[in-house]
Amino acid sequence: MANLGDTIDYFTEVFVVTFDITEKMTESEKGILNKYKHSMPFKVVEFSRELGVPVLLDKDMEDHKSGFIILDDNKYYIVINKNQHELRNRFTIAHELGHYFYDKEYLKKYNKIENNILFDKEGDKNPEMDRRANQFAIELLVPEYFFKEKYNIKKHSDEEIKKIAKYFNVSSQVIAIRVQECFGVCS
Ligand SMILES: [Zn+2]
Repeated sequence: MANLGDTIDYFTEVFVVTFDITEKMTESEKGILNKYKHSMPFKVVEFSRELGVPVLLDKDMEDHKSGFIILDDNKYYIVINKNQHELRNRFTIAHELGHYFYDKEYLKKYNKIENNILFDKEGDKNPEMDRRANQFAIELLVPEYFFKEKYNIKKHSDEEIKKIAKYFNVSSQVIAIRVQECFGVCS
């Protein structure tokens, strides 16, 4: 398998702590989020589907690709690489939803936002868009209020990070980013 969820090592930035994921949502989208945001792990596929953005699996996608969002005939679809690890795919879907909310103008113009290696700055054609999509994804999958409840700085250890990652069903790397954030700013 090309990418194990727990060995992702390409996050290169520390993200800001507070990211309001509802900023671009309509009232009805906020209503849908409200249905899902109270239980973890976050049901990202169901959430996406309910927004009207079906998630499709592509079994023939190249190894280095994680997925894309496409606007086709006025309908959005997220397509992910079936051969990637489940945790990676969860993050990809959340990331693409970030594009769905923030980059509609771009999508209307170009129809598609494709991701190769997500955090590869060199190969990233839209670093600003991707950075924002990552912030969105992290806040969606590991909401600040849940994270603060779960994470105890006194118990900080690799073991503990793995446990929290399991709780949110994300890679340890995503939690490591949250922790870094909190070392910087949270109290
Ligand atoms: Zn992207």
